Amino acid sequence: MLHDAGRFLALVNPAIALLLALCFLFAWHHERARSHLLQASACYLLYAAAIGMQVLLPPRDAGGPATIIGALYLGSAVLLLHAMLARIGARPDRCAAVALPLALFGMLAWFDLVQPSLLARVYILNVGVALILLPALAPLAPLRTGRTVDRVLFWVFVVFALQFLPRTLLTAAPPGLQDPAVLPRTAYWLWLQATLTLLLLTLALALLAATAQDVIDDLRHERDTDPLTQLHTRRSLEALAAHQIPPRPGEKLSVLLCDLDYFKFINDNYGHSAGDAVLTQVGRIIAAGIRRRDIAARLGGEEFVVLLPDTPHDAALQLAERLRQTLEQTSMEALPGMRNVTASFGVATLRPGEHLEALLMRADNVLYAAKNNGRNCVEFEREAGLAALA
Ligand code: GH3
Ligand code: MG
Ligand code: MG
Repeated sequence: MLHDAGRFLALVNPAIALLLALCFLFAWHHERARSHLLQASACYLLYAAAIGMQVLLPPRDAGGPATIIGALYLGSAVLLLHAMLARIGARPDRCAAVALPLALFGMLAWFDLVQPSLLARVYILNVGVALILLPALAPLAPLRTGRTVDRVLFWVFVVFALQFLPRTLLTAAPPGLQDPAVLPRTAYWLWLQATLTLLLLTLALALLAATAQDVIDDLRHERDTDPLTQLHTRRSLEALAAHQIPPRPGEKLSVLLCDLDYFKFINDNYGHSAGDAVLTQVGRIIAAGIRRRDIAARLGGEEFVVLLPDTPHDAALQLAERLRQTLEQTSMEALPGMRNVTASFGVATLRPGEHLEALLMRADNVLYAAKNNGRNCVEFEREAGLAALA
């Protein structure tokens, strides 16, 4: 019975690892910038090779295969370390990724080729893999407070890395373990392989799920972010405004519309790319001048909008005036002589029952008035101003 289960697992383990390696390779083929997928694929491939060799080659106490198998396991652990860290843009230090695995490999070779001892090799490999993986916990710690997939991935990795330590202690318990010919037929060996495969499968699924979420989040960010200014797009502004309109009782929502003055002149005289650079810098100025809750977007061309939750009319006017002055006083890096640009502003405050579209239209009308008043100024609806003073 045990022997059959052992044979079954012996076939299933490398097959699952190989399939997971292919899954990661396939995912990497579509997302080549995510190098951790390739590293994870190589990790599972080495693991499949190691477990495959262990199954195919009858275990002997000495003679080389154990050294090669040990090297494959260590390589697999190092690749897992690289993959987990590469996903979050980090790199392992040389000690964990190079010096430690080399030292462990030397010890494994010693206890295989010079002074053969299966027990020593099992200890070195299990404790060694834990020591290779555990230093990753500090850089990975921020995942604990991240998205659900990140939290799941972090804790699966913690369990995976830590279980190598109790695993080592358990190796001393079962009788017959010290005999390499008996080892693959023990219940201990079955338990060891089954739990390891289950954990590796869980880890792979968690890593794939987290990567899928990364891809979705990146696409969402691309869709909602203006590439030139890194502000919101009109679509994103409308989606976010739906959470702010109608405002909470007692709160006012205002909007400011801003259009750069004589921007066509900039494009015509300094080139389109200088114009783009100006838009980028203006985007930075707006983003730096607003609160965290405010929502800034580029509506297209050289027109910007900032949605101001919980902001009465006079506060919105003050903000618009502050932004106008900052812009007027800022040298544009992309323009010769570091000349500045100015902008005209239109401010409006949401009326009861009004929608975003109508609010923007009113702000656009007062912006038009600001242009007619000579530009580089803030304009607002007179009755709204009077209401604010009342
Ligand atoms: P006004 O003071 O009345 O607003 O004059 P203006 O020249 O700023 O306005 P106008 O609407 O005549 O010209 C806007 C220019 O903005 C025309 C267009 O080529 C330029 N533009 C629109 N989108 C972009 C962009 O993404 N990059 C660059 N560089 N220019 C853009
Ligand atoms: Mg303009
Ligand atoms: Mg315009």
